[in-house]
Amino acid sequence: MNQRTHAWIAVRTIALLEDSGKAKNLVKLLKPHAGKAAIGAWIPDLQDSKRGGSKTENHIFKIKPYKGNLKDRFIADKKETLKRLGNARLMTDYINNDNTLKSTWWGKPYKGDIDKPGQHLANRAMAMSVMMLDLLLMGEDTVDKLLPGTVSFAKQIDKNAKTQAEQVALYFFMLSHFVADSCMPCHCDARKLASYSNSLHKEMEMAWSKLVGTKFSKNKLLPANMSVSPDEILKESRKVDQKFGIKFKANAIGKLVAGDIWLEIINICRGSFAVNSILAPPSKYKYGDNSARAPFNKVFGDANSQEFNDLSRMVMHDAVLNNAIIWRQIWDKASKF
Ligand SMILES: [Zn+2]
Repeated sequence: MNQRTHAWIAVRTIALLEDSGKAKNLVKLLKPHAGKAAIGAWIPDLQDSKRGGSKTENHIFKIKPYKGNLKDRFIADKKETLKRLGNARLMTDYINNDNTLKSTWWGKPYKGDIDKPGQHLANRAMAMSVMMLDLLLMGEDTVDKLLPGTVSFAKQIDKNAKTQAEQVALYFFMLSHFVADSCMPCHCDARKLASYSNSLHKEMEMAWSKLVGTKFSKNKLLPANMSVSPDEILKESRKVDQKFGIKFKANAIGKLVAGDIWLEIINICRGSFAVNSILAPPSKYKYGDNSARAPFNKVFGDANSQEFNDLSRMVMHDAVLNNAIIWRQIWDKASKF
């Protein structure tokens, strides 16, 4: 996903939490910074952010057939995958409604082989989530007042070393990036046809960016250029729903199905891998064939087609919802101390 889409997903998550009445104090904390923190949502894709060395490079989780031992561990048939995705996600219906992936596909072991641990999408999301919990407990006054309970050692920390509300917002937005990328079908498929330079990946992202619109473009949201109020930007984010045909159910922001952010992201990536295999069937575009391409117009017709609309609605709805679920889980955990 590109800059505008990432910014929209993160801002829309605050609006969804606000509308649902869940994690109210988190909304109070994040909302004033909804605009200025937006850069956090696209920082993980910026070149300098990927230059940090072997452990902190790009963030991917590209899945392919697994040939190693303990194959059973990497098999999740359709029923099991749907169970792991739960009822609230549109991805569950999308996969459930598909008849093209047969039981032979579902019965095979698949695994995301990541060269370096820092590249692993679920590792990145998990690492940020755990860090957020610690940072929230060491918050300065604004942050501290919104979190119930007393942290025994907080007084011993220098006040300039404590976590600022602006930092909380920026880091939550960065986390949003990793959650959103796990919902991008091409992000989770190791076939060459899913790489960014291939037309399918790039064109999907360009079409989404167009729908999100210029209100979420970088030149409007960089802290130095920010002129819209938090209420306005949240309102603009809600308006984008109709472009994707999304209707959020406020009561959908439940708990993690897996109970663990790492596993939840893995399960979402598995779902996204299945979705990409529905769009570009492996029977037609083989795993080992590096020259295979799945052009956007071959897969969808054009950007106005029903097929593309259905996919976009599902991906965008779930990206925002998954984010809301994960943000809420972190906040609830921090609130229990
Ligand atoms: Zn990314």
